[in-house]
Amino acid sequence: MRTMLNRVFVANRGEIAVRIVKACHSLGIEAVVGFSEPDRGSLAAQIADRAVCIGPGPTAASYLSQGRLISAALGTGCDALHPGYGFLAENASFAELCGDNDLTFVGPTPENVKSMGNKLEARRLAQAYDIPLAAGSVRINDFSHAEAIADDIGMPLLFKAAAGGGGRGIRIVRDRAELRGAFEQAAAEAQAAFGDRALFMERYIENARHVEVQILADIQGNVVHLAERDCSLQRRYQKMVEEAPSVGLADDLRAEIHAAAVRLTQKIGYVSAGTVEFIVDLDRGSFYFLEMNTRIQVEHPVTEMLTGVDIVAEQLRIAAGLPLSVKQEDVALGGHVIECRINAEAPARGFNPSPGRVMRWRPPTGDHIRLDTHAFEGWVISPYYDSLLGKLIVRGQDRPAAVERMSEALATFEIEGPETTLPFLSYVFDKPDFREGHFNTRWLEAIAPGFAADAA
Ligand code: ADP
Ligand code: ADP
Ligand code: MG
Repeated sequence: MRTMLNRVFVANRGEIAVRIVKACHSLGIEAVVGFSEPDRGSLAAQIADRAVCIGPGPTAASYLSQGRLISAALGTGCDALHPGYGFLAENASFAELCGDNDLTFVGPTPENVKSMGNKLEARRLAQAYDIPLAAGSVRINDFSHAEAIADDIGMPLLFKAAAGGGGRGIRIVRDRAELRGAFEQAAAEAQAAFGDRALFMERYIENARHVEVQILADIQGNVVHLAERDCSLQRRYQKMVEEAPSVGLADDLRAEIHAAAVRLTQKIGYVSAGTVEFIVDLDRGSFYFLEMNTRIQVEHPVTEMLTGVDIVAEQLRIAAGLPLSVKQEDVALGGHVIECRINAEAPARGFNPSPGRVMRWRPPTGDHIRLDTHAFEGWVISPYYDSLLGKLIVRGQDRPAAVERMSEALATFEIEGPETTLPFLSYVFDKPDFREGHFNTRWLEAIAPGFAADAA
């Protein structure tokens, strides 16, 4: 007979650490937060049952220090560890190390993380299970290899880091003359970010949407999907606005995408929450597998508001060995949900990070408005870490109502201290193309110079 976890160590920071503590409490589980020195007064540390320092600000000595995290978790009597996203969330050896120390890793198995962590291996598996792939190459180790096979892929194409994530190690090539520069940049960025220069090439889909499917899978073998999210509004291959359902997606294509995500999850024997990402070719009405993220995702609240399913609570239940609390036929979608990522960045100055003390923090409130954040008045946004201040999520009965609600919420959100992406987001929500659902993955970058020009 399985029982619930007793005490979970939160090996992360920021808004996701707050989110995990709250999910633990909703299930009657204690939460211990490990914080770095600059995070001593963080919201997550304040609301946790206990908080312990795991090291100084630089991540190598704190949030990325496997030894310190494991010692802190064991020293505080935890029986499980939640990695959140980023940091060690997709590190298979860390997941294994947790298991070796009798700490339940709140996430997939080390094998799941390993097989999906390398994009080439993930593509190989997807292909084996008849999931469509964009034309792509094998692993490329040197430029002459890239040159020899570029014509087989065709232009435009992308160089991608095999170990990639977070949009890093991706470079576009529209013309053979750009091939060498793009190769060198992508390899250097991959080496710096992932310690692995290995690249591959993939055909670039010009007129595309990013559509991803939220999955839940338990150890009993039940797999459900919680529909899709559209994350096409991106800058530098990083998401800024996410919504569900995806607007203008044909119903049969939508169903095929859901089925492909469920099939891959089942075939690889995946356990826990996960996301299967696809690129949809709007001109051809076709879709291609991009990658699977073996962790909780930043934009998971979109799906939670749409379906009423608490995805982090499900992760904890699955980790405890309990079956999913929802069946596929019970998943119902309520209205339309949109999320905006609010970053401490200066949108009129190339989205430069804008750390510093939050002097004023007056978020919008109301029905169907959710804010996932770690910020509060007086909190100092550290230059050491990610610039995410919070995620504003709203629901409407349909897309126009959700867009309207978000526009109002953005307009009434008062933040002083760091510069934020709020004015840029308002600019996006005023655009007729966005309001009418006419956008692709290149749209946001195309309109960004207009914002900077208006601001000048
Ligand atoms: P997601 O895939 O969850 O939407 P992104 O694509 O924006 O997230 O993020 C890409 C990578 O950067 C992921 O590995 C994610 O875990 C990491 N990341 C994103 N935001 C943060 C954050 N606020 N703190 C730490 N890591 C982050
Ligand atoms: P990461 O691991 O960095 O998230 P992904 O493979 O998920 O990398 O791609 C990130 C983003 O890059 C996608 O959301 C999409 O906007 C763009 N992208 C990736 N592959 C393609 C492709 N073949 N065609 C068009 N856009 C792509
Ligand atoms: Mg991705």
